[in-house]
Amino acid sequence: MAAGERIYLDCAATTPLDERVARAMVPYWHEVYGNPSSLHHEGLAAREALEEARATLAGLLGAASDEVVFTSGGTESDNMAIVGVFQTFAGKPFHMVTSAAEHPAVLETARFLERLGADVTYLPSGSDGVIDPGRVEEALRPETRLISLMAANNVTGVVQPVGAVAALARRHGVLFHCDAVQAFGKIHLPGGADRPDMISISGHKIYGPKGVGALYMRRGIACSPLLHGGGQENGRRPSTHNVAGIVGLAAAARLCGESMSEEACRLVNLRDELLHGLQRLYSGVYLIGHPHRRLPGHLCLGFAGLEGEAVKLLLALDEAGIAVSTGSACSSAKAGQPSYVLQSMGFDPVRARGSLRLTLGRSSRAEHIQRVLDAFRTVLRGLRPVATFSQMG
Ligand code: PLP
Repeated sequence: MAAGERIYLDCAATTPLDERVARAMVPYWHEVYGNPSSLHHEGLAAREALEEARATLAGLLGAASDEVVFTSGGTESDNMAIVGVFQTFAGKPFHMVTSAAEHPAVLETARFLERLGADVTYLPSGSDGVIDPGRVEEALRPETRLISLMAANNVTGVVQPVGAVAALARRHGVLFHCDAVQAFGKIHLPGGADRPDMISISGHKIYGPKGVGALYMRRGIACSPLLHGGGQENGRRPSTHNVAGIVGLAAAARLCGESMSEEACRLVNLRDELLHGLQRLYSGVYLIGHPHRRLPGHLCLGFAGLEGEAVKLLLALDEAGIAVSTGSACSSAKAGQPSYVLQSMGFDPVRARGSLRLTLGRSSRAEHIQRVLDAFRTVLRGLRPVATFSQMG
């Protein structure tokens, strides 16, 4: 590793475009530039790439091609699923169950529905960040139309019991949307009868391009479009296709699928080595969220006694060449504020302010771990009063 090489530990925020994905996309910027809706050769060539990408994604999701709708990313997919289903119940009572720990792409959409007259139940998580399927079931009412629950949390990395929720949703005849933006490509999602009715995914979390995603929508689900225009995506998502982006999304998903198990094993080992190294360094380090039900490369850490220093810690690590994020918010504007995700797990506002998120990925290497630990040692020494140095190794 070169001395000045930066270490990127923020793969939950976004990932770099994989070079193989970039190469797959290049022809679709300028060689195959047709509009896939056109009937001439140029259009047909683009259409072919589009449908191949759709078939690839469908295969990875265990779905049929016509169940995959391309979107501009995870946010749009979440909005399409939630608002789209809501719109089909116009004028009828509408109750939705979700969790208080969802990404804002779901939470803010749920709040939008409330302003339009819907009723929403926001379930808290357990102290380990896991949503209890029993509580989901208890929250159901005769007018519950939709459950929206994420597959893995973007702050804590905790993996939710998606299969159990899908099963209970089916039993009760309620639609189940799952935001799998963090989980897709990293862990296996339940298939068959345990597959959610709708699944959101995004390209930039899986070494694909930004600004492209997809929504899996089980055949036959009534869901009104968000956008109105031409008839692309069978009228479900009009707008001229982002062909290069879609080709990139499919290439990225295929690569993740090819190495998912080995990569997960590799990342779990690195992640645990990093966690144990940090705990040896400073006894106040604690893991937030379930120890095993978590994404392979994902650490969300609390630093007892340093709760007010998370942003300082982040900036000092950045200076040392290491990119991490605070676990407190998804936007830098909110950094340092209590995390609503941690508060939904029962953390008090002080502890909910002080977490760091370290998310390893494809570029993470064993030799990075020592450098990260060295940087933490220096940075923590700078933050701790001298009298408490004994807490550090
Ligand atoms: N859902 C989750 C769980 C996320 O982590 C994110 C992005 O951070 C999104 C949705 C939004 O996805 P996108 O950035 O593609 O709009």
